[in-house]
Amino acid sequence: MTITHCINCDKRISDKALACPHCGFSRGGQDPDQVEEIRRRKQRQQRYRLSMYSYVALTVFISGVIWYWVESGGFQTAASSGPIILLTIGVLGYVVLRGMMIYHRIQARKAH
Ligand SMILES: [Zn+2]
Repeated sequence: MTITHCINCDKRISDKALACPHCGFSRGGQDPDQVEEIRRRKQRQQRYRLSMYSYVALTVFISGVIWYWVESGGFQTAASSGPIILLTIGVLGYVVLRGMMIYHRIQARKAH
């Protein structure tokens, strides 16, 4: 018996199992269209998750800007490191997540 991964939920299952014990997905005799549809659905879910995270990062960035603006009296004086850290996290998070989205799009195109 070896361990493989369920194509539907990605959890570890026995290669002898006829159905996934985690999600109940039947492993026997799948047609390629069904496998392809599952693959597409997972890609859509991943894209959606990444775009949600990028909006969270954008919100963090905007919060940092507002915090900075309030603390510096409308950018008149320097602010403490708090809002600057928040700004940096927001920008880095957004850039990294957008980069991951582009990477996933390229990978999805390659698979076809
Ligand atoms: Zn499963």
